[in-house]
Amino acid sequence: MSVTDVVEFTFCPFFTYFGKILELKQFEHRRGTVLAGRSMHQKYEKYKDYIPRNIIGLKHTGLVLYSENMRLVGKIDEIIETDKEIILIERKYSDSVVIWNTHLVQIGLLSCLLEENFKKPITKAIMIFQKNNRKMIEIEVNPEIIGYAKTQLKLMNEIIMSAKLPFSEFDSRCLDCTYRRICPVGSLNTS
Ligand code: SF4
Repeated sequence: MSVTDVVEFTFCPFFTYFGKILELKQFEHRRGTVLAGRSMHQKYEKYKDYIPRNIIGLKHTGLVLYSENMRLVGKIDEIIETDKEIILIERKYSDSVVIWNTHLVQIGLLSCLLEENFKKPITKAIMIFQKNNRKMIEIEVNPEIIGYAKTQLKLMNEIIMSAKLPFSEFDSRCLDCTYRRICPVGSLNTS
């Protein structure tokens, strides 16, 4: 399983059911915002010398890490390794500066992967929202975030093991959802 799988489960558990049990593809690469976000990450992975806020450390980009303990893989776009810790940098192609549960799950699980592989603590993450504007937010990586992220991973695995249709309600997420046309909740509530 990947960190992205758990983030999608947190967005809506139906993603796990459609993607991991029924194996239906999302075709999300056809969406303009997804492509723009990917190209932004590829651009910043090349800026190996740029370190924000005068942090002294070594920058690593484009890491794929695996956790034996959690049986989880994740792609890390940018980190700064200092003598004592790892600082995670997450960029979002958006001007909407809101920290959603999906962001917390992503930060929590990537922090677990980093800690297991680098053997250094992760106490903070820097989220940079940039599209037309640019806003930087520092997030404390605390036991609550780690616990929440691990719980979401556990719940996702339970859905996969049971192969039962999970519960989800119609709301604004459904309007721009890649599964809306085949999802009973999304398709029955939109034209
Ligand atoms: S349409 Fe709504 S309920 Fe269905 S998968 Fe998408 S977000 Fe979930």
